[in-house]
Amino acid sequence: MADESRVVCDIDLDAPGIRSGTLQLPLSTDVSAWGRLLTPIVAAVGGAGPTLLVTGASHGDEYEGPLAIMRLLRGLDADGLRGRVIALPALNYPALTVGRRLSPLDGGNMNRSFPGRPDGGPTAAIAHWVHSRLLPLADAVIDIHSGGSTLRFVPSAVIHDLPDAAQMRATRELAQAFAAPFTQVLTELDSAGELDSAVEEMGLPFLSTELGGGGGVTPETVAMAYDGLRRCMRHLGMSDEAVPEAPATRFLNVPDTGYLMALRAGLLEPVVEVGDRVEAGQLVARLYDVDEPLGEPNALRAPHAGVLVCRAARGGVARGDTVAVVGDDEARS
Ligand SMILES: [Zn+2]
Repeated sequence: MADESRVVCDIDLDAPGIRSGTLQLPLSTDVSAWGRLLTPIVAAVGGAGPTLLVTGASHGDEYEGPLAIMRLLRGLDADGLRGRVIALPALNYPALTVGRRLSPLDGGNMNRSFPGRPDGGPTAAIAHWVHSRLLPLADAVIDIHSGGSTLRFVPSAVIHDLPDAAQMRATRELAQAFAAPFTQVLTELDSAGELDSAVEEMGLPFLSTELGGGGGVTPETVAMAYDGLRRCMRHLGMSDEAVPEAPATRFLNVPDTGYLMALRAGLLEPVVEVGDRVEAGQLVARLYDVDEPLGEPNALRAPHAGVLVCRAARGGVARGDTVAVVGDDEARS
């Protein structure tokens, strides 16, 4: 049957209290004939209120999510909680264990695998279980991402332009509550298979983030995720906890014309840092060919005025890589 899942959740998601368990997926490999993939899941169930689904490490080289979610969960008191938090701090657990974007088991990109397949590889099977079993329980979803090994972002929340006015308002309010320094209203390069689209199609408020990157974290980006999650819980009426306030988030439109791509491989010298203001045509980076030490580097220029929201985190880039992304204040664009 198409909807049958091989994933078994070994905890009760409804009983009051807080508990940790696993999603168990049979996995037979060279190193474990009768093994299982165990994906951690935590349910904190309090009184009447909404269900918030929180996910991290959809990509295994993005660490703010698991760190902030574990800190949040350890501090939760189910007795004082109005509603329920269901958390998957390591959505792509195999990828996180090796610190890579994609799963080492099947090459799966979790955030390109929704709605998933019950009969697919481990990444698709987990995505299918989340899509078919968890999303119907949720009233709001927050998925913590960062730039991973290859990109560096100005710390941002990420939302999308949605046709439904009420859903858009609820989504913007969630971003305002999260209060990252910036909120990108992002036109994705490729939204097929994203958790974002799957949740948005269900009519729910969905918040993603791009908090830093470069394959590591900073104290600031982990704190942004932790405090942002708690402010969102307070906004949703789930807690009265005192959380440090943050300045109002600055909304930026990020159109598909804002992506700057390398047309050849080379060594990248960034000239502008994320968060900096750029003018149309301003030099953003130089791309060098080390085989031609006297050759003129390629000049990569801002396609329009705005704020640099993202740049390549690595010194070397390949042909076709995104090397920078420029957004702009909503009022300007
Ligand atoms: Zn990511």
